[in-house]
Amino acid sequence: MIKIETGIRDLKEKLWRAKHVAVLTGAGISAESGVPTFRGEGGLWKQFRAVDLATPEAFSRDPKLVWEFYNWRRELIAPLSPNPGHFALTEIENRIQRFTLITQNIDGLHQKAGSRNIVELHGNLWKVRCTGCKKVIEDQRIHLPELPTCESCGSLLRPHVVWFGEMLDPLVLDSAYEAIADCDLMMVIGTSGTVQPAAILDRTGKPLQRRDRGSHCAGQGIRGCDDFGCCGGAVHRRA
Ligand code: ZN
Repeated sequence: MIKIETGIRDLKEKLWRAKHVAVLTGAGISAESGVPTFRGEGGLWKQFRAVDLATPEAFSRDPKLVWEFYNWRRELIAPLSPNPGHFALTEIENRIQRFTLITQNIDGLHQKAGSRNIVELHGNLWKVRCTGCKKVIEDQRIHLPELPTCESCGSLLRPHVVWFGEMLDPLVLDSAYEAIADCDLMMVIGTSGTVQPAAILDRTGKPLQRRDRGSHCAGQGIRGCDDFGCCGGAVHRRA
């Protein structure tokens, strides 16, 4: 591993030379804003584990309970602010010709920080989707009704987030792949690389192709970053 200072200087140079920068962010970038991850110990709401509520099965069994859980999450996230990590990415986007922010986070903090070109792999806590007509709408209210319904067709609304056991939206995934293949600099921030879809990066082999083209990947806050096979000169530090 190269020295952090050298790595950062090198990264900055590459950054300002790049025509298209793609960034993948995960929970790590939001942790400093106080966003809980709901993984591991302490990931409990009432007596339920988050992983047992954020599923299509839980929603069809008891949509009221799942909505109560999501209203609680909205309540937790609403007062939180983006941190310097989020703002730094907005700053980069303002200065780079083309910038794609791919995020696994659903908290909306990148939007709050002013990021514009965002690919939301796991959806967004502040969006709802109709279970009938599939329409997606933004709804910033902290508390939605017990069982919110679609204004167009009257069907039940669900959170527009990807639940455990669900596939990522192929169109969203395509946008991510496209950006990864097209960019000349990729940064990975605040993700362990083990959570899907960070892990897809090596499955597709795209980062390897990118490295052949002389591109650069900076893994920040990544454990076992070498597993990616993409971090030619990885910079490991906290997000
Ligand atoms: Zn509808």
